[in-house]
Amino acid sequence: MDSIGFDLKKTLLVLLTVFIVGCGSGGSGSSSGNNPPVIEDIIVVGAGLAGLTAARDLNAAGLDVTVLEARDHIGGRAYTDNSTGIPLDLGASWILGIDQSATYELAVEAGIVVSAHTDWDLFQGWDFDGSPYTISDADDADFFSRVEAGCRQNYQSQSSTSFEEMVETLYGNGDFPNLNRREFEYLVATYFELEYAGDVSLMSASQCWEGSDYFGDDVIIPGGYSQLSSFLSQGLDIRLNTVVTAVTYDDQGVTITTSNGNFSADRAVITVPIGVLRSGDIQFSPALPQSKLDAINFIGSGTINKTWMIFPSTFWNTDILMFGYISDPKGHFSEWYSFDDLETYNVLLAFNGGSEAIEMESMTDEEITAEAMTILRTMFGPDIPEPFDVVQTRWNSDPFAKGAYGFLRAGAVSARDRNNLAENVIERLFFAGEATSASHYATTEGAIRSGKKAAMDILTYTN
Ligand SMILES: Cc1cc2nc3c(=O)[nH]c(=O)nc-3n(C[C@H](O)[C@H](O)[C@H](O)COP(=O)(O)OP(=O)(O)OC[C@H]3O[C@@H](n4cnc5c(N)ncnc54)[C@H](O)[C@@H]3O)c2cc1C
Repeated sequence: MDSIGFDLKKTLLVLLTVFIVGCGSGGSGSSSGNNPPVIEDIIVVGAGLAGLTAARDLNAAGLDVTVLEARDHIGGRAYTDNSTGIPLDLGASWILGIDQSATYELAVEAGIVVSAHTDWDLFQGWDFDGSPYTISDADDADFFSRVEAGCRQNYQSQSSTSFEEMVETLYGNGDFPNLNRREFEYLVATYFELEYAGDVSLMSASQCWEGSDYFGDDVIIPGGYSQLSSFLSQGLDIRLNTVVTAVTYDDQGVTITTSNGNFSADRAVITVPIGVLRSGDIQFSPALPQSKLDAINFIGSGTINKTWMIFPSTFWNTDILMFGYISDPKGHFSEWYSFDDLETYNVLLAFNGGSEAIEMESMTDEEITAEAMTILRTMFGPDIPEPFDVVQTRWNSDPFAKGAYGFLRAGAVSARDRNNLAENVIERLFFAGEATSASHYATTEGAIRSGKKAAMDILTYTN
């Protein structure tokens, strides 16, 4: 937090208030007649990328913005852990589709170094027993396009079928004649459960046809995503360790109850994750409109977790980006990454998703490492070294995330539900965050765009 910037802003506000009082203006809200505008107080709940973007834009427009953040740090789900001496992103790693990307533009504006583009074709795979990968490129592509067509059909008919029902029907109909059961489940897990962070049994069958307007290459930020939140936070008044427990609102304003006392404002932007909204940990009074409650119900909070492992030396082919493992049972350490930008650090990253990831959260780090090493030894042989450091995420148990990001539950309609989630309530409560973005949900892009949109909406009511 930049206290110098904050003090300067307060001084300017005091001067402006003196000016306003001198002019005989009173009350709050928009300007009227020839009186100078009264500056609105805005509270932003959450200092992730959505909240910081909204706060920055509102602050730049001259509003008096306070950001309330439950954690002892900013960044939310785009946070970089430096405890090992290596910047390891616990949440977002990639900037997706840099050609029309607010995230990428921000990185450029901040002077943040990004990697060369990610080449997703650099792949090597293994079957469950360590024998060579058995799925041909043609079968892989065919699987994906048939499932995508299924998603499109379900989207068009607005069906409430689950993703599992849809893919199992295709499998049962013999649509994937060359895939055995294990290979089929591996592809379902790696393409959809890891991507959308939910179990296919809960997920809408239209999920893979919705949103995701990305253009161009993907890159990572070798120095860590936290650089983006640090950049956005400059000059903002951010109250850390401030857990919001209740939001009371009427047509005059908003009162927010927190672990550090009450805050009042003319309007508020709520950017807490969908998992937190679903949990009921924040009481809204009066209750939120039914359309928003329905949206909160239909957008699930999915889980993916990262296991970062730092080894004394590399034992993998560092020209490869992604290592696939057709695990048995499915979804156990089936996706591994080696980042050549981090190559000198000898780091591997594994993902687990859905209920497998949630179950794993109750295991100790040592137990998780042991399971990961058993699989790595199956892939790379018995002589590989033990890691000397492991950083494990547990997003589902995280009280201020309660999941990794939102997915569409069976019965949801993306545009309807995400737009209802984003809709403001009586022009006092505004909502942002990845889950509110119909076009870029589940990503930093959705978070940043939604923060910009919430700020723009507020400015239309205050100008
Ligand atoms: C493992 C993982 C991998 C990912 N990979 C990618 C990727 O490669 N590329 C990509 O684009 N996206 C990725 N994402 C998604 C991306 O990280 C998120 O979409 C984005 O960071 C969400 O930003 P946000 O501002 O909407 O929410 P958040 O960052 O979660 O911000 C919300 C803030 O609200 C705070 N908060 C919660 N409850 C309270 C409360 N009661 N009181 C006060 N504050 C509260 C939280 O602490 C948090 O700081 C990944 C996410 C995860 C978890």
